[in-house]
Parts: sequence; C-alpha cells; structure tokens
Amino acid sequence: MDSLLLQISQLVRKASDASDPELQLREIVDSISGMFAVDVCSVYLLNEKNEPTLYASHGLITDNPVSLSEGRGLIGKAIQTKSIVNVANAAQEDEFELVPNTGELRFKSFCAVPLIKQGNCLGGLVVQSKKAEVLAPHLEALLVTIAAQLAWLIPDQKVLEKYTPVNLTLSGLKGAGGLAIGDVHLLSLPTLEQVKVEKAPDNEDTLSEWQRVKSLVNDQLKAEKQQMAQQSITGEVIGIFDMYQLLLEDSAFNHAVNQELGLGYSLAGAVKKTIMGFVETFEAIEDEYLSSRAEDLIHLGNKIIRVIYEVEGKIHTIPDHPVVLFAREVSVSDIALFQDGQIQAILCSEGSLLSHTAILANALGIPALLGLGAQFLPEENERVIVDADNSKLIRFPSNALCREYETLKQQQFDEFEKLKELRDLPAVTQDGIRVNLLANSGLLNDLEPSLKSGAEGVGLYRTEIPFMSCSAFPSEQEQATIYRELFSTFGDLPVYMRVLDIGGDKQLPYFPINDEQNPALGWRGVRFCLDNTAIFRSQLVAMLQASEGYHGLHILAPMVSSLEQIRSFKSLIGESIDLLQGKGHEIKRPKVGCMIEVPAAISQIPVWAEELDFISIGSNDLCQYLLSVDRNNPRVASLFDSTHPAVLHEIKRIVQFAESASLDICLCGEMASDPRSVVMLIGLGIKKLSLGAAQLPRIKKLIRSLNYKDCSKLVIRLSGIPTSEGIKREIDAYLEKVLA
Ligand code: PEP
Ligand code: MG
Repeated sequence: MDSLLLQISQLVRKASDASDPELQLREIVDSISGMFAVDVCSVYLLNEKNEPTLYASHGLITDNPVSLSEGRGLIGKAIQTKSIVNVANAAQEDEFELVPNTGELRFKSFCAVPLIKQGNCLGGLVVQSKKAEVLAPHLEALLVTIAAQLAWLIPDQKVLEKYTPVNLTLSGLKGAGGLAIGDVHLLSLPTLEQVKVEKAPDNEDTLSEWQRVKSLVNDQLKAEKQQMAQQSITGEVIGIFDMYQLLLEDSAFNHAVNQELGLGYSLAGAVKKTIMGFVETFEAIEDEYLSSRAEDLIHLGNKIIRVIYEVEGKIHTIPDHPVVLFAREVSVSDIALFQDGQIQAILCSEGSLLSHTAILANALGIPALLGLGAQFLPEENERVIVDADNSKLIRFPSNALCREYETLKQQQFDEFEKLKELRDLPAVTQDGIRVNLLANSGLLNDLEPSLKSGAEGVGLYRTEIPFMSCSAFPSEQEQATIYRELFSTFGDLPVYMRVLDIGGDKQLPYFPINDEQNPALGWRGVRFCLDNTAIFRSQLVAMLQASEGYHGLHILAPMVSSLEQIRSFKSLIGESIDLLQGKGHEIKRPKVGCMIEVPAAISQIPVWAEELDFISIGSNDLCQYLLSVDRNNPRVASLFDSTHPAVLHEIKRIVQFAESASLDICLCGEMASDPRSVVMLIGLGIKKLSLGAAQLPRIKKLIRSLNYKDCSKLVIRLSGIPTSEGIKREIDAYLEKVLA
C-alpha cells in the first residue's frame, strides 16, 4: 500500500509537470493502468453537449473521439449521479451501453469514479479488466483518492480542443542516431485503424463499387495463394487464404456492409464498422480459437481497405521533397519507394532499438526514433525536430529552436566529413592490436556507402532484407543477380552471407508467420530453412553461383541450437556445390559458420568447432535471450542492456571457447557500434567487428585511441562488478581518460 501511495504522489507530480494537456492525460492513463494492474484506464470528459467523451485511454482504441449521449452508459451514470459504479461484468448491467469502435467488449469488469471539481462533474475515470470481478474495496478507495486529486489538474475539454503547444518534446527510442529538421510525411498504406467512419455525401454507386472491390480482393487472394503453392507451401498457410475468401463471401458479413452503406456511410467506413462489429463479437467469445479469428478479420479488413483506396485513387503519392517519414512500422519496401537521400528521418509509433526498422535505418544512416506510442499521430507536413541521439522528438518547434538545431547539424556534418579522412587508415589500437571492421548490409544501396566508410568486407549480409522487398519468394536467378552485386562491389574481401533469417520480428509480407504465441522462440532462422528445403536450396545455389570467381564467400547460419542443425546445413551446402559443379560451374567450398545468439550454443562451441570455420556473435538476439527481454518491446527497452554483467560473462566464455578451438570469431550485433561495448569487446580480445557503415568511422576513431592492454585490465575489473550501472561507470571513466 505504501508503495502505491508513493506512486500516486509521483503520478500527481508528473501530471502537474506535463508540458501539454494531451500528454498529461496520456501520462495519467498509462500510470494508473500499471499501478492498478488493469487492462484499461480511460479518461472521459464532458463535451459541450454534456456527452461523456473518451479523451484518452490505455487499452481502448481512441483513433476517433467517441461520445455517448448525455447520461448514457455506465460512465454516464457515474457522472450524472456523481457516484462510483463498480461492477464485475459491465455488459450484464441494464445501463450498459457499448462505447463504439473502441474494442471495449473484450473487457468485463468496470469501475468508474467521477472527476469532481468544486462540486462540478468534469467527467470520469474508468478502469476495466478482462476478468469479471469488482474492483477490490481498497483499490476503489485509492481510485477515488486519485480522481479527487486529478480533477484539479485535468484540463477541461475546451482547453484540450484549443491548445496549440510549442516545442513539445516527446521521448522515443533511438533506432539510429542523428539529427534532422523536416516535415512529416505520413506513409500510410491505409489500415482499418486509420479509416474515419463517416457518412459519404454521395454514396449511390457504392454497392457496385463494393462488388468490384470484392472481386479485386478475391483476385489478389487467389494470386497470393497460387504463389504460395508454387513455392511448395501448403497446409495452414494456404488455409488462411481459403478462410479470407470464405469471409469475403459470407452472407452475414455482406448483409452488414450493405446495411451500413444503406445508412449512408462511405464504403471504407461501412467496411470498418462491419469488421469492428464482428471483431468485438469474436473477441467477446471465451474460445481461444474463435477469439483469435478476430485477428484474421482485421487482416482481411486491411486488405479490403487498401483495395478501396486504390479504386478510389486515394493511395498516397510520394512527395518530391525531403521528408521525415512516419508510420507504425517502416519496412524495406516502404523505404524503396523514396529516392536516395530523400528520407531525412524515420518516426515510428512501434518498434524499439533492435527492431528491423532500426537495423535498416542504421544501415542507411537515417536518424530514427521508434516506439513513440500509438497516441502519437502527427499531421502531414508538420514540422518536427528529430534529435535521435538524445531520443527526443520536438513537435511544433519555434523558429529559434530550429535555428539552434540547424547550427548543431552543421557542426555534426563537419565532424563527419573529418572522420572520412580515416577511411584508408587501419583500425589499430595505440599498442598495435589490429581490429577488422566490416559492414552490416542487406540493401544494395548500402554497399557503396559501406565501401566508402572503409569497411574491410561485409561481416553480415542479412539476406532476409532483399526477400522483404519482393512480393513473392525471389527466384534462384533473381537472388543470384542481387548477391552478385556484393561480390562485384567487394571483390575478394570477405563477405559473410547469412541465410534467410525470417520469423520473429522479421516477417515476409507474402509468407506471414503470425500464429505463434512466442514468435521469438518459434519458427525462425535455421529452423525455418531446414523445414523448407526447396526455398533454402535455391538460396544456397544462388549464393554459391554468385560467388563464382571470387574468394570471399562465408555462409552463416542463424539461430543455431544443435549439432544436427549444423550437419544438415552443411550437407545441403555440399549438395548445392555438387549440383553446380555438375553443371560445369567452378565453385570453391565456402567457409561455413554459425551465429552464436541462442544461449545454448555457448557451451556447445567446443563440440561444434570441428564442423565450423568461424562463429559470429549475434549480440542482439543473444542479449534478448540471455536477459529474457523482447528486443522489440518499447516497454522493457530499458532492460535490454548489453553492459549487463551476465552479457559480459557469456561473451567472455564465447571468446575463451573460440580461442581454445582456434575458431575465427566476429561480433555483428549492435554492440559493435556502441562505444562502451566496444571497449569491453576489445578488452575481451575480439578482433573482428561488423557494424552499420554510418557508425564505422566513429568506431574506427575510438579503436585508434584505445590501448588493448588497458582494455583487458579493465575487463578483468569489470568481471567483478555486479551491476550494469557499475560497469558503465567504470568504462566511462576509462573513456573519459582516453578521449580527453
Ligand atoms: C543479432 O541477433 O545480433 C544479429 C546480428 O542478427 P539480427 O539482428 O538480424 O537478428
Ligand atoms: Mg539475430
């Protein structure tokens, strides 16, 4: 209880300090839902017509302000009677009224307390949970206490509608460092979520338009299904397409759409209303199978909406000026829509520092701020400052602030130009230890920048990235053409090509694997490759064929956890070599290695060593699995910590095992571009790092100022420090000395 009281006083303090009313409401709902461990916390304020209007929510969809009529619903009752409504199952109450398009039906329990200021009721504070139980009396009392304090802080509805903030600062997660000042462009492949449900002034032809849209969606589904079948993919995945087609023709579904159209809604609005209605019904069913079908409905809805927008000619056009790109998530195919250099920065409401968007942004040297939250919805052409180095986004910046940031940007540019002078100098420590710096790549347009940055080869080529920008699995020949570019750019320098590492956060649009409870532990990396040998063989053949005439090919297996996987992997490589040699190609045997990113792999290095030529530490996944912290979840991003004592301990073991077995070792995760981690890695004896080209010159400069012997002594001291904070402090003290 004491700690709850402390949290309440902190919440009240934070809410009173918030620089803008919207942010203040967001702070309140997020904090209360965490504090009370409930699924939903919402603030309703009375609008001019005295209608309870949902202004902010943690847990409910709030893409359009939704109101109930005056006094209606359980929230209306709490406000009108200025009393608490605390029930176990809201939908069973006589006064219950669904707040539409919010996904509310999923939640059963409901407790509303009025927000009363000087005797006037401004609105209500509501908490809801999936579990049907009344809020415990002591929690109800706490909610009343909080509401009493918040009523004095919460802005009234008029303030919220008129407020225009200046220099409003939001914090996000740094996906890729850098600074940009520019205008937002909303990259909206429209989704169901973004559609505004509104009546269309003229919707006479919509019935025939609906028929046309359905037949186009159907054609798309057929084509996608056919592509899958051609890739020998059957079973569950094909089943999804059948189900989509059935839903599209379902009579209840069509009847509901027609009814909404009859009421005058636009086609997109009618589809959204219908789908959301079905989703709410499905989600309310206590059957795991049926409730998970709600997700399929949303996928189908997104497909339909895209076709509607195409038919209506509303698909967005790409501007011809520089942009700060905003989307929920940005994929490689989105980036490909823009000219080189046109994207000044990337902003995403989802994702975190190790998500694929972050990796792409790093590879391309584009500043990126991720995990800005679903509530962040900027306007098209809105001016922003993206200060990714400090994880900050500044909305509505003043002219004076823009000028200051322009100066800073120029300084950074000058420094970067100076770093280019290091291009042909080796990465060598003060006491003569030579470190190889290679580039992480995945896009053809990052190859030239990698070479220019002074990379001594490609230390990690993520082959899933080109796969992501295709609309079906690329053919062997298409792959070979792409891979050949790598060799023609890097000649005989080493090129570490990692085989397809999909699954987890890396989804292919044409092969979604989205029915897993724990995708990070699911059908990923080498597991997927070995289960889909047709796809995998064609990739191996393409790699080997592309490398003909060059000496640098290294083939790398991701997510390996057993010796059997390594043996199967090698045997498929052997078969592919035989096949090509049989056709007269001169193929040399490539070096073969595996990623060390599953913790179980560490102790197995001595056993696997005789099968392998090298290992590569995938520190992104290794940290994720060692610390059990989802690398994509902004909520736990602060726990993802590469200076954690356990990470240091395990990397030390990996290096010792590799040295004893004389295995070549590289590290290709994001640790290679983090200065603190680099000090640690050099001290541990790692002499090959692979990182984004944009970061490479900075890391080279750092290595040239380090002393290897001092770093190894430092690492011995670090091994005795039990906290990450302590480790960071000690490294910082060393860095301060060497960089002074
Ligand atoms: C890693 O896991 O560290 C890695 C380099 O691979 P990816 O980030 O592509 O999973
Ligand atoms: Mg990985």
